Amino acid sequence: MSFEGNKLEVSPYYDLYFDAVRAAHEAGASDIHFEPTRDGVAIRFRIIGDMDLPWKVLGLDHRQGFFNEIKRLSGLIIAVSGRPQDGRVSFPNLKLDARVNLLPTLHGEKIVLRLLDLQRDFKIDALGIHMSTLEILKDIPRLKNGVVLISGPTGSGKTTTLYSLLCSIDRTAKNIITLEDPVEYGLSGLNQVPIDKKVSFGTALRSVLRQDPDVILVGEIRDEETASLCFKAAQTGHLVLSTIHANSAAGVIDRLVNLGVEKFTIAENLRLSVAQRLVKTLCPGCRETASKDILLDLSSDIFLCQEDAATVGMFKVNGGRSCEYCRNGFIGRVPILEIMKSEEVIHHLRGAERGHLKRSLKRSFLESATLGQVDIREVKDLA
Ligand SMILES: [Zn+2]
Repeated sequence: MSFEGNKLEVSPYYDLYFDAVRAAHEAGASDIHFEPTRDGVAIRFRIIGDMDLPWKVLGLDHRQGFFNEIKRLSGLIIAVSGRPQDGRVSFPNLKLDARVNLLPTLHGEKIVLRLLDLQRDFKIDALGIHMSTLEILKDIPRLKNGVVLISGPTGSGKTTTLYSLLCSIDRTAKNIITLEDPVEYGLSGLNQVPIDKKVSFGTALRSVLRQDPDVILVGEIRDEETASLCFKAAQTGHLVLSTIHANSAAGVIDRLVNLGVEKFTIAENLRLSVAQRLVKTLCPGCRETASKDILLDLSSDIFLCQEDAATVGMFKVNGGRSCEYCRNGFIGRVPILEIMKSEEVIHHLRGAERGHLKRSLKRSFLESATLGQVDIREVKDLA
């Protein structure tokens, strides 16, 4: 489905749908939610991680017609209702694509568009990651082989970090193949393979290995077969990047063990285990210095970082204000990374206690907090 701007379809809801997409894009939203409610329809955006108040509300008499039209315009099957659907739609004029998901709810079918900015370039330097963490990541493209894994909750920016790592590799000198479910962004110089229900990561990975890759991105390690194949690929001279479901860098290792990967194989091949979170970044225009009371309350959480930072007022908070440069005091989000390098991976496999990571989530967060980039109070929410 594609919108070329010249309106061939005539429908009372066409403009509204297109206006919603444009308004969401201009507001920097990541998602648009078309929600059926008891009283009609609510159109809401997600901006910097939070759901916003409705952008527009329609009455009950519009509900059925509007949703039929959104389904048609979003490339979903109108005749099918009552079961989930996925699709993709393009807005060439806005240089935007959207992943579409439909879910039946009590009051009808809710549709969510995940906006994909096609002009976005993935630069590892542009993510806002603290210099000391960035230095470690920048070594990854130089690795000849091994496995690098990133864990984190849904929406924590794992894919963006992986894409940015891939884009920092010399794509002309290397054969890079990605296996993705689904492919979100088409990137030049990469061979991107969409994975769907018919082709598992494992099956695709077997045939990828016959294509002489240097670097392989596997969307997600979900099962024993994929885990085993990723490590086999690493052992035979490939660099494998992937995501895995776990809560921490140490949890990644435990998960691999659960998936049947031998400990010595993990020790020899896992180069980096990463856990990532996205934290909102404070607006430099209206952030405030954290009060003594706040710092006292957090003192047990912030003992790790430079003592001076507290006394010279480096720690900032969102003072609840807003200015012309920000949205409710925030300007975006920054990845905060916990990283275990090979030697720490081996320590963990030998049964070392947790809590002695050089680059724990908390330490990384505090480095960013020391720059005034994030609200120091959020150290409490890190888990
Ligand atoms: Zn501001």
